Amino acid sequence: MATITTKLQLVQSRIKQACSKVDRPADGVTLLAVSKTFSAADVREAFQAGQHRFGENYVQEAVDKMAELADLRAQIEWHLIGPLQSNKTRVVAENFDWVHTVDRLKIAQRLSEQRPAHLPPLQVCVQVNTSGEASKSGVEPAEALALAQTVAQLPHLHLRGVMALPAPSTDASTQHQALKKIREVFDELRDHGLTLDTLSMGMSADLEMAVEQGSTMVRIGAAIFGQR
Ligand SMILES: *Cc1c(COP(=O)(O)O)cnc(C)c1O
Repeated sequence: MATITTKLQLVQSRIKQACSKVDRPADGVTLLAVSKTFSAADVREAFQAGQHRFGENYVQEAVDKMAELADLRAQIEWHLIGPLQSNKTRVVAENFDWVHTVDRLKIAQRLSEQRPAHLPPLQVCVQVNTSGEASKSGVEPAEALALAQTVAQLPHLHLRGVMALPAPSTDASTQHQALKKIREVFDELRDHGLTLDTLSMGMSADLEMAVEQGSTMVRIGAAIFGQR
């Protein structure tokens, strides 16, 4: 069995290769290691191998892990990438650095109001649903601009970009289309004057295609930590 350290290096080289294939600088793609269902010890191993950004899906699981890794708190960036219910916004505002899954104004307003004053603004992405019926999370593309413009005004949030979780497809051209559609929403928001630097898309199975389509942050779980 390959170790987390080895698998992490493999993912880093996949990113590098994917970037060079489309003439993008390798530092234009940030690796978010998705540690959901894996232990604090696994996160620590990845940290020791140089990985400092971690994505979690479940709020309570993440907060428990943060407590176990409290000695690393200042050096780890914690990203929430799972769905967020309004009764969980306070604990998220108090504990996370980033939230990728802002898909309605009410959630954004609560996060901004509940962000503690001693912390920097919470970094957020608007989650866009480009898969239609197949997904319940994410704002419709036609409503993404209005939501993003409002979120950008909230005092304790810093809008960084767009996140999407396209329904996975084993058909390459379907997957390509899905990623392209997300990229187009991102471009549209920027064309309307929003200053965005983050396009959060790409997972273990479609990392290369996501980089080709302009992803700036890939969220990789299985390829680093193993199958869940
Ligand atoms: C689990 C998850 C990932 C990572 O997926 P892998 O296939 O394990 O790389 C990325 N993004 C989100 C939103 C996830 O829930």
